[in-house]
Amino acid sequence: MTLIKTALDIKNISHLARITLYLLLLVFTVIYQVRNPYFINLDFLIPIYGFLTLALGINFILAFLNFRKPKILDESLMYLLLADVAIVSGLLYFAGLQSSLYLFFYLYLIFLSALNFHVRGAITIAALCSFLFSVVLFFDTGITSNTKIFLFMINNVSFFVVAFMGGILSQRLDVLGEEVVVKDKSIRELKNVNQLIVDNIKSSLITLDEKNRVIQFNQEARSMFGDFELGAELSSQFLEIAKVLDDDNPVSVFEITRVRGGSTVFYEVLVSKINLDGIRRGSIVLMQDVTERKKQDERSKTQEKLAAVGQLAAGIAHEIRNPLASMSGSIQLLAKSFENLDDDQKKLIAITLKETDRLNLLISEFLEFVRPQIALEDKVDLAKLLSESVEIVKLNSQLKQPDFILDLQDGLVVDGNRDKLKQVFLNIIINACHAMEKSSHPKLKITLKKNKKIELVFADNGSGMDEKIKSKIFEPFFTTKSKGTGLGLALVHKIVELHSATIEVDTVLGQGTVFKIVF
Ligand code: ADP
Ligand code: MG
Repeated sequence: MTLIKTALDIKNISHLARITLYLLLLVFTVIYQVRNPYFINLDFLIPIYGFLTLALGINFILAFLNFRKPKILDESLMYLLLADVAIVSGLLYFAGLQSSLYLFFYLYLIFLSALNFHVRGAITIAALCSFLFSVVLFFDTGITSNTKIFLFMINNVSFFVVAFMGGILSQRLDVLGEEVVVKDKSIRELKNVNQLIVDNIKSSLITLDEKNRVIQFNQEARSMFGDFELGAELSSQFLEIAKVLDDDNPVSVFEITRVRGGSTVFYEVLVSKINLDGIRRGSIVLMQDVTERKKQDERSKTQEKLAAVGQLAAGIAHEIRNPLASMSGSIQLLAKSFENLDDDQKKLIAITLKETDRLNLLISEFLEFVRPQIALEDKVDLAKLLSESVEIVKLNSQLKQPDFILDLQDGLVVDGNRDKLKQVFLNIIINACHAMEKSSHPKLKITLKKNKKIELVFADNGSGMDEKIKSKIFEPFFTTKSKGTGLGLALVHKIVELHSATIEVDTVLGQGTVFKIVF
């Protein structure tokens, strides 16, 4: 289908043209008869009028049907045209060639068929015209044979010339129409490509006008932040962005955070101003979720720090341990050799011993932490080990006991080190208990399941942490507790890593913390 053809719909026009044809035939006949009462043999007059009126009526109905239910007539158009040629020839026969009244309609029909069926169709119709016309010519008695030869030649030539030229013309029209369609399509495609690119950028893109009103936003922006109201100023949801919109910097890059479904999401924001001829015309705000990248960065940073600090300190720790052991031994001996110590003195000695114990624990934990290799030779049933760890914590009367909610998928086994993994679980659970000391309904939910990978999640409703604390918890010696060593999570991190697993933390201050280990 070509554009021009669709716009005009050649087929529909052809049906109309055929109705017109019959209307014209009727009108011509009537007018001519009024002016020349004998031009049609009277015996045939009634049937001819009757026939023409009938044909007109039928065509009218057919065209109407075709209009209501397009295309039902289109298939048979060629046959209809052939029939038209026969009817015109019939009329010509009765009217006699002398008046040449209906000759014109041959050309009319040839042209119609050219329009619809190009050269081949037009030649077919022209051939029928030529044949029937020649027959009519042959039987006509009103003209001399000289005129007949002349009429025969001139009409036949004009039939075929019109058929051929009309056919070619209509073919050209088709090609032209197609070209227009193609051009129109590529312009539209170009426009669509622009939208496609904007919509498929995996960053949220918001365009603002000079008054900081939203004029456009893409798919990603919608899925990150919901629908924006077009024409409204960038809402209070984006105060950090609004701040830089009116300054003079052509480009600003910064980071914002949002809490989504209980976890913190980081967005890198790029605001660039659109200036034309030195006048602010608007801004483009590009936002990208960089949470994953940040986590990765944090992980590698922590790792580097751990490695450096660890090596240095391991040496020192080892050196402290031996004198410490002799110190605590000596004090114990000394205490025994003095018999009449008063209470204060006993208390002092107890303090000394308790503190040396603590120091010892610290050093043991530390050495555990910096010890380079551990064997990963156990088949560890995670659900079992977790239940065991929870039982151990439950027995510890010094810890605030939360409600433990366990949702553990059975039969998940990893290759690893059983004792070390138990240390990991204990450390995380005990930390959670500490964090929930002030919670009114302390609750620790532990979930173990396998999707693509094995995921283990500890979610408490304790104190949570602010960003600053969160960024440091895996560092050795970082603690917020008066009696903490700050080594628990550092050790956890290291063991998890040795198991080729990852650990992530999501936390909201005052609401709780989620540790997630993925094997
Ligand atoms: P320690 O327990 O000796 O303080 P850790 O390395 O185990 O050392 O933990 C470091 C710090 O991380 C803790 O002092 C605490 O501030 C924070 N922390 C750990 N777990 C949680 C938790 N579940 N909720 C809130 N803060 C936590
Ligand atoms: Mg701890």
